[in-house]
Amino acid sequence: MDLSKPLTELISLSGKTALITGSASGIGEAIACRFAEAGAFLELVDIDEERLKQMCESHDLKASVRLHRVDLSSKRDIDALWKKLETREPDILINNAGIYPLRDFLNVDEAFLKTVMDVNLNSVLWMCQHMIRGRAKKGGIIINVSSIEAILPFKEEMTHYDVSKAGVIALSRALAKEYGRKGFRVNTILPGGIVTPGVKNVAKEIAKLKLGIIKDGAKFRGRLPLGRFGKPDEVALIALVLASDLSTYVHGALIPVDGGFLSA
Ligand code: NAD
Repeated sequence: MDLSKPLTELISLSGKTALITGSASGIGEAIACRFAEAGAFLELVDIDEERLKQMCESHDLKASVRLHRVDLSSKRDIDALWKKLETREPDILINNAGIYPLRDFLNVDEAFLKTVMDVNLNSVLWMCQHMIRGRAKKGGIIINVSSIEAILPFKEEMTHYDVSKAGVIALSRALAKEYGRKGFRVNTILPGGIVTPGVKNVAKEIAKLKLGIIKDGAKFRGRLPLGRFGKPDEVALIALVLASDLSTYVHGALIPVDGGFLSA
């Protein structure tokens, strides 16, 4: 057994560049902080540039980051981003950005579905395509963020979201199969019950209209084997393992970070 590499070296991202989408808030913000701590240079992407700047200032990430205002629902924006990255493609790509607007299935229309699919699924596909094309000779690490909802639909009015996140799983596994031997390591994280600004906003919006979300929240927590909601950093630490040499033989996997929700 070769134990020659110390743990500190295995977990280090020093000398690596990581691109993280949706990094102005929540899970993406936590991933940015942990990856910076692990020594990575960061390409941070978000539609909310102001918030992205504030986030970097508040965590003092300024020295090791470049910020990119990108609307991931636009293929043109995505293409322009990768044009800028041409001379320095990231070693690690984290497709984390996502939206989860609630809507009754019977009221889902074409424009609404298109937005959800563009942000949650199509952008992930285009980002992976750019990464794999750009690093065809070097390989790299891809981590896509799906959801436990794609495996076990729980919340009502999320059909569109569940479909988009199931697509992320299918995409990740297909790419893992096709590109593993070409030097790419692709995995999917399935968060569940993580308290983030995005989740709080949805809860606030709905609470104004009806009490259902509060009841749903209590029902969700009641079903959690750990008995509590999770923190963004608890997802970020798993992303760090998956991005680092701590997980060189983990590939094509679905990793729930959900307090045991899927197990019970
Ligand atoms: P969040 O809303 O707190 O953060 C999401 C970030 O994505 C925001 O900074 C937002 O500005 C950015 N974003 C949204 N649309 C964008 C666009 N078009 N272009 C670029 N950036 C855009 O969300 P979060 O809770 O941290 O969720 C992160 C990911 O985890 C999402 O994909 C979400 O579906 C997934 N997820 C979260 C949970 C949870 O419990 N929080 C559960 C399952 C899955």
